[in-house]
This record gives sequence, C-alpha cells and structure tokens, in this order.
Amino acid sequence: MVLKEWVGQCIVCGKDIYCLDGFLNGVKEQGELFCFDCEEQDE
Ligand SMILES: [Zn+2]
Repeated sequence: MVLKEWVGQCIVCGKDIYCLDGFLNGVKEQGELFCFDCEEQDE
C-alpha cells in the first residue's frame, strides 16, 4: 500500500502535488509548490 497524501497544487500550472510514500512528486521552495516540469524551467 502506497501512502498518497495531497500536498497542494503547482503554483505555475495548477497540477496536483502529492506526497507518495514520503516522496514529494514536486518541489517545495519557500512555501511555494512546483511540479518537476515547472521547476526545471527557470525562465
Ligand atoms: Zn507545474
């Protein structure tokens, strides 16, 4: 069983960010959430 906890939404694209079994499928920076796709885009 995988623990899936909704953390919030990416502030750029609105994609849902989950904590999967202790692993966040995004990036949290200074209280703001980004998915990996948006985090990779620095521009
Ligand atoms: Zn995003």
